Amino acid sequence: MFIGHYAPAYALKGAVPKTSLALLFIATQFVDILFFPFVNMGIERLKIVPHYTASTHFDLEYYPFTHGLLATILWGGLFYLLFRYVFPSKSRSKAVAWAMALGLVSHWFADLIVHTPDLPLWSDASPKVGFGLWNYKNATFATEVILLLLGFGFYMRKTRVVSSWGKIGPYVLLGLLLLAGYLNLYVLPPAEDTMSLMTLALVSYFLFAAIAWATERGRVALALEPARA
Ligand SMILES: [Zn+2]
Repeated sequence: MFIGHYAPAYALKGAVPKTSLALLFIATQFVDILFFPFVNMGIERLKIVPHYTASTHFDLEYYPFTHGLLATILWGGLFYLLFRYVFPSKSRSKAVAWAMALGLVSHWFADLIVHTPDLPLWSDASPKVGFGLWNYKNATFATEVILLLLGFGFYMRKTRVVSSWGKIGPYVLLGLLLLAGYLNLYVLPPAEDTMSLMTLALVSYFLFAAIAWATERGRVALALEPARA
């Protein structure tokens, strides 16, 4: 899954207003942010196979450290500890730590919908799961778009505009996400090699997070506003 991963990021931002939307964008893609470098370092393995599924061009051969359920929960636990006890921030709290951890772990469950049975439960030798929606390209796109719109709608209802950028910024980001999701599924050719795949993926993830950061400057959570007399 690609843009659908941002649905839980928006939803968690709506539910826990003190959490950073930009950091949630990183959290929900965190295991992928590790995965592509791990592939290029030889720690995990992905083979580029054009049209391996109707929606993807790669065979995910070996990735228990980023996409095992157990590993994902452990990374989520690390995020909890970091955002509860380590990072210096005045907005640090139990709720924020939970949101960041849940955002990270949500990645595995979103991937579960689309991947073929290649997601390990605990190790590479353990049973592997995946419902295989990637075998249906239009259904994959529709699912990602619907999830994203649901998360986005919740976020918009839970926040309000404080500057003109706050009015258009969220829609600029939403439009970019939808465009990236469309290009990824319908337009872009298979990546030449794992290095260019990593570059495209990481640039996208960090660019979206940066725009999310900018978007946040223009909106305020309704729950954080002082009560009106
Ligand atoms: Zn993934």
